[in-house]
Amino acid sequence: MSRFFSSRYAALEPYTPGEQPRDMQYVKLNTNESPFPPSLKAQEKAAQTLERLRLYSDPECTELVRTIAKRYGIGTDEVLFSNGSDEILDFAFMAYCDREHPAVFPDITYGFYPVFAEINCIPSRQIPLKEDFSLDPEDYKEAGGTIFIANPNAPTGIALTKEQIGQILLDNPDNVVVIDEAYVDFGAESCVPLIHSHENLLVIQTFSKSRSLAGARLGFAVGNRELIRDLNTIKYSFNPYNVNSMTMAAGIGALEDEEYTVQNCRIIQKNREYTVSELKKLGFSMTDSLANFIFVQHPDISGEELYRKLKENGVLIRHFTKERISNYNRITIGTRQQMDILLDRIRQILQ
Ligand code: PMP
Repeated sequence: MSRFFSSRYAALEPYTPGEQPRDMQYVKLNTNESPFPPSLKAQEKAAQTLERLRLYSDPECTELVRTIAKRYGIGTDEVLFSNGSDEILDFAFMAYCDREHPAVFPDITYGFYPVFAEINCIPSRQIPLKEDFSLDPEDYKEAGGTIFIANPNAPTGIALTKEQIGQILLDNPDNVVVIDEAYVDFGAESCVPLIHSHENLLVIQTFSKSRSLAGARLGFAVGNRELIRDLNTIKYSFNPYNVNSMTMAAGIGALEDEEYTVQNCRIIQKNREYTVSELKKLGFSMTDSLANFIFVQHPDISGEELYRKLKENGVLIRHFTKERISNYNRITIGTRQQMDILLDRIRQILQ
């Protein structure tokens, strides 16, 4: 730290993203990316923007907004795009949390939430998940702050139903409830249909997972027009051109090719079922995941050792050091071929 660094951030512990190694070609199952390329329409549309890069991007993301609004049957003033969903999550922390409205989230969830709270100097409260890593909506009765719930949760993959989230919304009428649906397309239920009946609901989604555009950085929020207006106030005070033209075009292309997305999600779900059943035969236990990853442990090998040995053998998975989950690993679901390599290496390691 230089002597010029603001004391405000002296204790800030940044988020640690999953490894993006350049040293060798791994079977990369550590950051929940899609194993499939972006849709050809997305690629073509992005390429067509090259000559227009001299101009600033459209700050209103007009065409993208129109397309997603039509898709979800919502107003164009009920959606806002961002540079990845991380950015809009940060906007939500800025917009809806302060001393009187601390950020409230589970103890085991997306590791960026505590960092967003820290960087914005917002107090936060963590509510422990149950022993089996499930979330009990009863624990969020009058939670006394702005609630952030990833649904399905990360890294467990466990999902709440729309009804359970509806109950949390009703139990917290004076606070915003942010539902982070980064992984919703792999089998869980979206809460977008609830935005008109719950003025305190903000739903956040991403193009990074099911739409194979992690590197393009595209996310969005859906909520009633007042909430979206708040987020626009933050966005226009931060970076009006937060979504670049190539990404916007890629996003529109991806939305036009929804069949491709749906088909890829089906393959991931099938590969998830296959991997789970094969790992169970090898003695693993896991949470009931509805995401594009699984969260597993084995009685005979520590989470850390399995992670390390797989890495030595060319397969990268995600290990977390947090005590409660240190015996677990999160494994992204890839192609059937990638899953077979993973299973093969695990069999060798366990022998
Ligand atoms: N929410 C959750 C739960 C995530 O796991 C991630 C991906 N790391 C994000 C949000 C952010 O995704 P992105 O910024 O790529 O949209």
